[in-house]
Formats: sequence, C-alpha cells, structure tokens
Amino acid sequence: MAPRVDPVSSDEALPSRTKIVIVGGGIIGASTALFLAQKGINSVVCEKGHIAGEQSSRNWGWCRKMGRDPREIPLIIESLRLWQGMNEMVKAETGFRQAGIMYLAETQAELGQLEAWLDHARQYQLDTRILSRTEAAELMPGLTGTWTGALYTASDGKAEPQRAAPVIAEAARRQGAAILTQCAVRGIETAGGRISAVVTERGPIACGSVVLAGGAWSRLFCGNLGIELPQLKVLATVMRTEPLEGGPEISASGGLFGFRKRMDGGYTVATLGVRTIDLVPDHFRLFLDYLPAARLHWRKLRFRVGGRWVEEWRMPRRWGLDETSPFEAVRVLDPEPDRFVVDRAHAATAQAFPVFRNAVVAESWGGMIDVMPDAIPVISPVESLPGFFIATGFSGHGFGIGPGAGKLVADMVAGDPTLVDPAPFRLSRFTDGSNPRPHPLAS
Ligand SMILES: Cc1cc2nc3c(=O)[nH]c(=O)nc-3n(C[C@H](O)[C@H](O)[C@H](O)COP(=O)(O)OP(=O)(O)OC[C@H]3O[C@@H](n4cnc5c(N)ncnc54)[C@H](O)[C@@H]3O)c2cc1C
Repeated sequence: MAPRVDPVSSDEALPSRTKIVIVGGGIIGASTALFLAQKGINSVVCEKGHIAGEQSSRNWGWCRKMGRDPREIPLIIESLRLWQGMNEMVKAETGFRQAGIMYLAETQAELGQLEAWLDHARQYQLDTRILSRTEAAELMPGLTGTWTGALYTASDGKAEPQRAAPVIAEAARRQGAAILTQCAVRGIETAGGRISAVVTERGPIACGSVVLAGGAWSRLFCGNLGIELPQLKVLATVMRTEPLEGGPEISASGGLFGFRKRMDGGYTVATLGVRTIDLVPDHFRLFLDYLPAARLHWRKLRFRVGGRWVEEWRMPRRWGLDETSPFEAVRVLDPEPDRFVVDRAHAATAQAFPVFRNAVVAESWGGMIDVMPDAIPVISPVESLPGFFIATGFSGHGFGIGPGAGKLVADMVAGDPTLVDPAPFRLSRFTDGSNPRPHPLAS
C-alpha cells in the first residue's frame, strides 16, 4: 500500500522552452527547482507519477548528521541549516523539528564502532556524544533491555516525508518553476554536442541543461544515453502506527528497529537490521562493484528471487525518443512491503519499548532505495554530455541531505560557487581509479 502523499497538481501547459529541465519530482528534484528559482532561474520539473510518489514519501523522515560517511558531513551540515529555515522559506509545514536521534548499542563492540565516529563529529564541532545506558534511559523513558550505551545527537532532526517535497515543489512553483506530473521524460536531444531539449511523453521541451533526479530509475535513464551509472535497488520496508500515547519523542534505532514519532502522534517504524534484495540481472552485471558493500552488510541482506527478476529482464534497456519508455509503464514504483521485516521491526521495537506492544499498525509500505557501491550519492556534471547533471544514488539517506543536495545542484548548474566541495560526489570516481568504498557506519 502506498503512503498517502500531499497532492501537488500539475501545470497544464507543456512549456516549449526553459533553461533547465529536472527529471524527477522527489525531494532532490523539488529542492533543486526551489534553489534555482531563488537564483531567478526558471526550471521545469517533469515527474512521471506524482510529486514524492517514490522514495521521498516512503522514508523514515530522519534528518541526521550522525553516523554519516565523512564525505557527506559538510553537505549534511548545510542541509540541516536549510531544513531549519525551510518552513519559513516555503511558507508551509514540512514537519521539520530538531528532535534528536539516538543509536542504541547492544554490545561493547558496537558501542566502540559508534564511538569511533566521534572523531568526525569533533572535527566539525558537532554535538554528538556517547551516552551510558542510564543516560540513554533518562532521555528515552520506557527503554528496557541490556544496552551497552548509545550515540546521541540532540541537534539532529526529523521531517514529514509525505509533506516535505510537495510543499517544497509548491514553493518552487510560486517562485517561477513549472511542475508537470504524469509526464515522463523519455530522453535527451543534443545539437553540436550539447543538450538542446528533452523529449517527454507529451512532447519536447527545448532547454540548455538537464538535472537527472530520477531516484531508482536513474541507471536506466543514463543507460539509454550510453552513460554507465553503477546503481542498484534495495527494498526497504516501513510501517506506520496509529497515534500512540507515552512513546519516545527522540528518534532512535537499535538492534532490529528504528523509529520516528510523527506529527500525527503515530510512529514510523522499520528496521535497520534487514535489507531485502530481490535479485535482478543488474546484480550480476554490477557484482564486482558491490562486493565491498556486500561484505560489509552481509548479515543484513535477505536475498529473494521472484517477479522482479522477470520484470527487469523484460524491461527495455534501450528505446527511441518516439517510443513509449519504461518510465511510462510504471508511474509509481510501489513494491510490496516485506512482511518478515514488518513483523521483526514491530517485535524488536516492542521489546525495547514495551509501550509499542499497544501500537496498532495502520499501514505498511515498501520503498526502493537507490544505492551506489560506496553508499554516497552522485551529484555531478557528466563530462561526456555538456549540460547534463546527475543527482541520484542517495543510498538510503537522501531525505535529510535533500535540501543541501538541491542547493548544491542549483549552484553547479548556475555556475556559481558551490555550497560545499562537490568532488567526493563526482561520477568519475567509479572510473578514475579511486576505488570508492562505503563507510562502515553507512546504512
Ligand atoms: C524505506 C526508506 C527509508 C528511508 N529513510 C530515510 C531517512 O530516514 N532519512 C533519509 O535521509 N533518507 C531516507 N531514505 C532515503 C530517501 O528517501 C531518498 O534518498 C530520497 O528520498 C531520494 O530522493 P530522490 O528525489 O532522489 O528520489 P525519489 O524520491 O525516488 O524521486 C525520484 C523521482 O523521479 C521520478 N522519475 C524517475 N525517472 C523519471 C523520468 N524518466 N521521467 C519523469 N520522472 C521520473 C520518479 O517517479 C520519482 O518520483 C529512505 C528511503 C526509503 C525507501
């Protein structure tokens, strides 16, 4: 079942021309459009389904610095700064609150691993600190179990995924962006080696630049342009409870659970402990790229072979701009949640916080996470296609970093000084011999 997302209506007319077309209306596409508009640059967001229909409405809603890959820390610091002013900036409620995030550790070894991350926190003067079991319990009333301690960042936050990208998109529109939904981009036309237009299912839009913020579809889009993007999909499952009295205010994870209190008084509950991999042909094509990540997370991975193999096998990998593209066939990627994960997450949460025994599960859903081999995104121009920018592969933590990433992309496209150094996110890291690896704490 897909989570309900605040609806964003489509502009009716297809603009014949714009400066920049943004492919994808998730948090990244919407934020990019907003920050471009703030520079006075008009853009058109083309979304094949509805705004925030895929990952951006299905996530936990954590906006965290804690536990990040060090390469992402400068960008997430800026992103959280933007989140703090976001309600004011978009004149609407994104649900952003600085409510704190805590990672509970079950063993001394786990606590040691969390403690090791403090070196990065110190470097950036973050307020992250290690808590004893007693200190953790003081902040988390109702906590039971033999935890060895926790890593805690009071300044980390949360927002409402089913509201945030929609209100950001609406604000971008008020400031000059066009928003087209049910409008898949089939591909790109070039003239003289540069981008001249995109071709959508409703016709062409002449433009000078394109930002691909296509989430889990980005590899397919790039493949049709002859650009290799080593991206895979991983199924994550989430459930939502009805409002629950007496539960923790701080977002937390530990062992097999993770949760966030929602604005409606219920909880979004999931597990960090299990990632479901529905095997598809790309897993074999990209086997070597993902070996380091698979070794790191081996115990968390739950492999399955089923319908997705056939679906992806049959999906065309090349098509012409006058042909129906695969993006039109799947308006919203809405995978079935993995029941095994829902049950484990619920049981593990109730074990740590007995108040969750009374929680009524209102709904559950699946979301396809777009992962990269080193678990950090690609936010990068593409040298072989001037005017083409990629912002994808946020690897399960792109919601919190979304506004920062959108601002970074807007800076890049405008040719302005960038919010942070974009070098760690360059596409060429996969081919320039730098052998990028995931950080051990990266999810
Ligand atoms: C279960 C789950 C939990 C998560 N928890 C967190 C969390 O707590 N904190 C956090 O920071 N991150 C979290 N994430 C990750 C986060 O949700 C994503 O990184 C982020 O939403 C990515 O945003 P996006 O805009 O890149 O992609 P998406 O939201 O997936 O949007 C991409 C959009 O592009 C559209 N599109 C694709 N191709 C085309 C095309 N050719 N034409 C037109 N439209 C196209 C798609 O329809 C889609 O709407 C989680 C993800 C999941 C699934």
